[in-house]
Amino acid sequence: MENREWNRAQIVVLGGGVAGVFAAVAAAESGADVLLLERQGCLGGSAVAGLVAPMMSSRLPGGVENAYLSRRLGMGTAFDPVALDLALTRLCRETGVRVCLDAALCGAEAREGAVRTVTVGTCRGPETVAGQVFLDCTGDGLLSVLAGAKYIRGRAGVNQPMSLRYLVGGVDLDHLGAFLDQAGRETGLPHTARGQSGGLSLYAAVTSQGGWALAPLFRKAIAAGDLTEQDAAYFQLFALPGRRDTLSMNHPEFFDLPDATDPVQRTAVQLRGREAIERQMAFYKKYFPGFENAYVSQIAPMTGVRESRRIETRHILTAGELLSGAKFPDRVAQSNYPVDIHGAALEHDAPPRDPAKPWFEVPYRCLVVKGFSNLLTAGRCVGADFIAQSALRIQPTCRALGEAAGIAAALALRSSVPQVDGAEVARIMESRGAVFLS
Ligand SMILES: Cc1cc2nc3c(=O)[nH]c(=O)nc-3n(C[C@H](O)[C@H](O)[C@H](O)COP(=O)(O)OP(=O)(O)OC[C@H]3O[C@@H](n4cnc5c(N)ncnc54)[C@H](O)[C@@H]3O)c2cc1C
Repeated sequence: MENREWNRAQIVVLGGGVAGVFAAVAAAESGADVLLLERQGCLGGSAVAGLVAPMMSSRLPGGVENAYLSRRLGMGTAFDPVALDLALTRLCRETGVRVCLDAALCGAEAREGAVRTVTVGTCRGPETVAGQVFLDCTGDGLLSVLAGAKYIRGRAGVNQPMSLRYLVGGVDLDHLGAFLDQAGRETGLPHTARGQSGGLSLYAAVTSQGGWALAPLFRKAIAAGDLTEQDAAYFQLFALPGRRDTLSMNHPEFFDLPDATDPVQRTAVQLRGREAIERQMAFYKKYFPGFENAYVSQIAPMTGVRESRRIETRHILTAGELLSGAKFPDRVAQSNYPVDIHGAALEHDAPPRDPAKPWFEVPYRCLVVKGFSNLLTAGRCVGADFIAQSALRIQPTCRALGEAAGIAAALALRSSVPQVDGAEVARIMESRGAVFLS
C-alpha cells in the first residue's frame, strides 16, 4: 500500500473475506481505484482466518459455479486455507487492489443517504477514509449499521451457533481411515468414509440430528466423562488437499451462545473453545487409532460466525422464494445448496421447485442497502431472512455476491447504487467468464 493519499479511493471495501476480496478485484477489473480495508493481518476472512475448509458446492446442475474469479484461484471446493490466503493476496496484487490490513472499522459518517467517510483503527490510531462508493463485506454488516441502516439478527434473537475451528497435524490418515470405514460398515451408516465430499480423502461427522456411524463411540465417551453432550451436538472432520497428516475440525460448536454480535459471547467461543479442544484431543487419542502422534497445529484466530446481522436491503430474500426456487431478472447468484440450520430441522411449507430448474437465485436488490445511494453489501450479511441466509451463506455464493457488488460499485460511480441494473451486472460477470444457468 502506498502512503500517498492512501486513505482516499473511488471504491472502499470494508472486510476482506471471500466476498470482500472478490468484490474488490471485480471492481478493480472494471477500472476503478479500490481500497480494501481488513481488520485482520490477512485476507480470506472465515475461509482463511476462520479455517473454514472445504467450501461446500452450490450443487448446481453440471457442477456450475457462478463466480468467474473462482477459476483463477486454481483450486476446487477442497482447498487448504493457507493456499487460499496466498491466492487471494496474489489476486489483489495482480489487479491493483490497494489492501490495508490491521484496519478495523469503528465509525462511519453518512449524510443525505450517502456514506461520506469511514473511520478505521490502525497502528497509528484512528484514520479517516473517504470514498465515492462503499461496500460492506464485513460479514457482520457493521458498516451498514454504523451508517444507520436497519438490520435483523438471528431467529427470535438466536443466531446460528458459533464455532471455533482448528487443525490437527501428525495424524495417521490411513490408519484412521480404515477405522472410519469399519465403523461405517458395522453400523450400516455411510457418514464416516474415505473418498467422500468433493474428492477429499477423509470425512466424518456426528450431530444431534442422529444417524451417524460414530455416535455410539461418542455416547461411550460421554458416559465415561471424556466428552460433554455439547461435543456430540456437532462434530465434523475433513482432510485437507495436499496435507498428508492433517485434519480440519469443524467444531467445537456453541449452541448456548445465541448472540454473535456480543463481544463477550464471541470471546467465550475462543476461550471455552480452547478448553473443548484440549478435551477433544484427549478423546481422539484415547478412542481413535491414528492420533498417537497428533497435535493441535492451528486454532482459528477468527471466531466462526455463520450468521450475525442481515442488512435491510431493497429486497429481502425469503424462505418461500428460496425453497420454491424463485427466479429473478436481476439475479446475480444461483445455488441449490439446502437450508442448513445447525441443531434444528427445517419446518417450512413451500411450493416444490421446478425439477427442470432446481436452484434458487439471489437478486441484485438484496445487495442494495435501503436508504443509501452509495452503499452495497455482499456476502453472508446480505438481505435475506434467517432460513434463506442459512443456504446462501456458503462460500461459492458469497464469492458470486462479492463479484456482483464490485461490478455494481464500479457502475455506480457514474450513477448511483439503486440505479444500477442488476441484469447488466450479471451480463458483465458473464462476459468475464461467470456461468449462470437459465
Ligand atoms: C464454522 C463455520 C463453518 C462453515 N462451514 C462452511 C463450509 O463447510 N463450506 C462453506 O462453503 N461455507 C461454510 N461456512 C460459511 C462460509 O464460510 C461463510 O459464510 C463465508 O466464508 C462468509 O464470507 P464473507 O466474506 O461474507 O464473510 P467473512 O468470511 O466473515 O469475512 C468478513 C471479513 O470482514 C472482516 N471484518 C469484520 N469486521 C470488520 C471491521 N470492523 N473492520 C475491518 N474488517 C472487518 C473480517 O475480519 C473478515 O475478514 C461456514 C462458516 C462457519 C463460521
